[in-house]
Amino acid sequence: MTRLLDNHLAGRWQAGSGAGVPLFDPVLGTELVRVSGAGLDLAEGYAFARTRGGPALRALGYAERSAQLARIAEVLQGRRDAYYDIALQNSGTTRNDSAVDIDGAIYTLGQYARWGAKLGAARWLADGEPVKLGKDGSFQSGHILVPQRGIALFINAFNFPAWGLWEKAAPALLSGVPVVVKPATATAWLTQQMVADVIEAGVLPPGALSIVCGRSDGLIEALEPFDLVSFTGSADTARAICAHDNVLRYSIRVNAETDSLNSALLGPDATPGSDAFSLMVKEVVREMTVKSGQKCTAIRRVLVPQAHAAAATEAIAAALAAVKVGNPRNESVRMGALASRAQLAAVREGLAALGREAQLAWAGNEADLVDADPKVAACVMPHLLKVDDGDAAKLVHDVEVFGPAATVVPYRDADHACALARRGFGSLVASVFSDDVDFIARAATEMAHAHGRLHVITPAVGKTHTGHGNVMPMSLHGGPGRAGGGEELGGLRALGFYHQRSAVQAPPEVLAKLVEGAAPWQGGAG
Ligand code: NAP
Repeated sequence: MTRLLDNHLAGRWQAGSGAGVPLFDPVLGTELVRVSGAGLDLAEGYAFARTRGGPALRALGYAERSAQLARIAEVLQGRRDAYYDIALQNSGTTRNDSAVDIDGAIYTLGQYARWGAKLGAARWLADGEPVKLGKDGSFQSGHILVPQRGIALFINAFNFPAWGLWEKAAPALLSGVPVVVKPATATAWLTQQMVADVIEAGVLPPGALSIVCGRSDGLIEALEPFDLVSFTGSADTARAICAHDNVLRYSIRVNAETDSLNSALLGPDATPGSDAFSLMVKEVVREMTVKSGQKCTAIRRVLVPQAHAAAATEAIAAALAAVKVGNPRNESVRMGALASRAQLAAVREGLAALGREAQLAWAGNEADLVDADPKVAACVMPHLLKVDDGDAAKLVHDVEVFGPAATVVPYRDADHACALARRGFGSLVASVFSDDVDFIARAATEMAHAHGRLHVITPAVGKTHTGHGNVMPMSLHGGPGRAGGGEELGGLRALGFYHQRSAVQAPPEVLAKLVEGAAPWQGGAG
């Protein structure tokens, strides 16, 4: 039997009970390690984090905690090769794809460390200047934000075992809130190794960082008032967590990042052969293939002018045909595996559903897989689909195939394009490819209410833009509606989730004292 990974709870390493759940190499099918979160005393673990980790973190100012983040980034940087090795084995990703997760995590930590340093020795934040409550100004109202005093429980998805932890932990720890992470079982190894390295390095006080590997009953039951939950995963699980009695009873704050039918929109001005057209093709192919399309932000719907639908489909299919798929240990391979055979089954099921209303435009040939046995490996070729009538289509706007799949959807005019993008009923991101600033501005204002982020690619930024699917710490990550309604990142704004905002109505000298001891919040821009 393979090694059982320990959990870190109540300041000590603990084995879960039973044989545990095996984690596999999704390309070779070999068992790697096991995880078990069964039988853990979660109440004890959470209490330790609340009473030891939280106070120790909050005894420091923002700048001191930001120094801890910088040190965590250094520790992870020093162990980078080991993380790439785990990702290769357990996630089946190419080196470039692992970088999105691992280097993305280190970069995000470093960025929050830099922002946090600017907040100095303060231990709370002041939101704007006090305002008079009466005519003579002898009584005023101000707002302060103080660190929340519970734990931050992170329930994470399988696709970003590294970044998924640290993009949440950076603002939480900077805020002074202890973290308990429950990574997705399938890829928990990388998260566990990173937590183990940070704990061994002694960067954080005891109780500031805990991990429960594998499924553990009672994660939500053990929460108490003032605890926080940040969830990333499917809409179904998010709904179950939000509807939990404990969450409702204590009004536990839940941030949810869930499914999303993101789109790429090719402007009416972007004819085949134009720079904007070529940039759209490149980006769609990149989004479909990076991490085998297992990105919550990946492009699922490609909205193109009716007259150019055939040309767009053809160009994307031609570029997909050049992508080698298979074992990432082979250097010619550009797209590795899905995370597990379970994900492969889910992707096939999703493709079958889409196939009920969309036609297959390109799917390659499984026989072309490089160094991967289709009977064992969780590898799937990219699938490009198309529909003729985006209005009549339902599933295309509703079924998220969490893999290398996208559908080309034709539109009539600019209003129709924006309406189709909004059919995702709330998405994380849409990208717009055009050289027409008026169209772009109109599309942005028409689509923003249904999107957490709009990514505009004009020919002028073809080489410098950061990528449709790349989540940058400077920009908000999250989306309304079916995307979960959550908000992460976006600079120091992310600290808002981990603080309580409180109005203080008092004489001016009291408010002046509070403002003097605080770092300015003012919306929290980084
Ligand atoms: P999932 O089944 O909802 O799992 C997500 C996490 O929730 C895992 O850690 C899972 O643990 C845990 N979980 C499941 N049921 C639970 C319960 N009853 N109580 C407590 N925890 C529970 O999601 P998935 O299918 O693995 O993830 C893929 C989905 O995540 C996709 O739909 C994708 O769009 C979404 N996603 C969204 C974002 C974003 O930022 N918006 C990012 C990445 C992924 P186990 O692994 O142990 O089952």
